[in-house]
Amino acid sequence: MLLLDLNNLCAMDTQGIVIRIKTPAGDMDSSVDCPSLLNFNDLLVAIRDVMPEATVTAFEYEDEVGDRITVRSDEELKAMLSYYCNTVNEQRINGLLPEPLQIFPRAGKTPGIRNIHGLKVNTRPNPANDCSPVTPEANNSLKKSSAELKKILTNGQISAHDIHCQEQLGHGNGGTVYKAYHLLGKRVLAVKVIPLDITVELQKQIMSELEILYKCDSPYIITFYSAFFVENKISICTEYMDGGSLDVYRRIPEHVLGRIAVAVVKGLTYLWSLKILHRDVKPSNMLVNTRGQVKLCDFGVSTQLVNSIAKTYVGTNVYMAPERLSGEQYGIHADVWSVGISFMELALGMFPYPQIQKNQGSLMPLQLLQCIVDEEPPVLPVDQFSEKFVHFITQCMRRHPKVRPAPNNLMEHPFIVQFNDGNAEVVSMWVCCCLEERRTKQDHEHM
Ligand code: ATP
Ligand code: MG
Repeated sequence: MLLLDLNNLCAMDTQGIVIRIKTPAGDMDSSVDCPSLLNFNDLLVAIRDVMPEATVTAFEYEDEVGDRITVRSDEELKAMLSYYCNTVNEQRINGLLPEPLQIFPRAGKTPGIRNIHGLKVNTRPNPANDCSPVTPEANNSLKKSSAELKKILTNGQISAHDIHCQEQLGHGNGGTVYKAYHLLGKRVLAVKVIPLDITVELQKQIMSELEILYKCDSPYIITFYSAFFVENKISICTEYMDGGSLDVYRRIPEHVLGRIAVAVVKGLTYLWSLKILHRDVKPSNMLVNTRGQVKLCDFGVSTQLVNSIAKTYVGTNVYMAPERLSGEQYGIHADVWSVGISFMELALGMFPYPQIQKNQGSLMPLQLLQCIVDEEPPVLPVDQFSEKFVHFITQCMRRHPKVRPAPNNLMEHPFIVQFNDGNAEVVSMWVCCCLEERRTKQDHEHM
């Protein structure tokens, strides 16, 4: 039966299919050349491209009796396509033109919690909607498949003119990050703008050093779209993460932190496999979104960029391993320390060295960090956290780099193994709840 369905699917590849995304703004058609190669995530990305403000984690289609069936995995997508193929065959046999495959984006489980953007998705098909005019702009965007959009974005076609900066997302030691809209790609981006007073030669060197970012392709690493200089400012355009960075969340519960740790370890293992040290692992460089994804950003691929920023901003990063603070040589194990100290802070809701008063940001005068070099590293309280978690942190924060776990050992650590279950829903629910709480608090403050 399955074989038959797959054969059907492959047969459809010769003609392609049209998927109609039903959105509150109207119907958005997207053509798929090879349905058998389509995967769930690609389709979700395409939906998010046309509904950038929504929290879409799944979608639905209707069976022959009008019942809604949810799709949230590759298997369920295959089942939907297979069902659709049979319908199309029937329509053809009856001399009818095949209808597009209609899908209904779904915004979270419980609207109160998940539907944080107040998105209203039609839950019943609305025939009027089918006839409603779609603005040429929206229609145009939907004709582009997500792969095409990605191509537009990664071909280096992003220029300052195509970007509309919206609100400021944050300000770090190097520059300012904005939420922005890319007009050509019709996509929301994060743009980091860093002022740099450097020569054109150095600008060229930075651009060539950043080129490796195009090759980074991991679900645990932020997608890099493009970078460009305008006068003395570099703009670095990346994927936007609607949950922001972890530094602004209060104490994170262990079962959520466990899933986040798995993603961080996988992201680092990926970078290390490309011989890239992150060099700046810290909560503000771990980003989350309402789909429950966790991604690393701001890793030091461009020595020149790091050096140029360092010339402007003085101070030492409090998440640095003792060997880095003392100016010794360092490697992968320094990143492992930073994982340990970051997760300890996220679990406790405070920086683990109470004598270090972190104000805004993570840079401090080196002298104030001497305790990290001299003292025994702190340990998580055993009565508040599981044995596996306490052990994980203790191992990552061993004073001597060589005894800290290496990449393979990290993946095999019982704490990571325990939470390596692919359950993005846990992180997704937690991010949505926190954002909702934050919004309610802001609403109260404005009242
Ligand atoms: P540093 O400059 O030392 O790295 P930082 O990480 O806090 O410090 P930035 O990297 O400039 O500073 O980032 C500022 C803030 O912007 C982050 O804390 C985060 O909240 C937000 N941010 C950065 N990148 C993104 C992104 N891709 N999506 C959403 N928010 C982002
Ligand atoms: Mg950062």
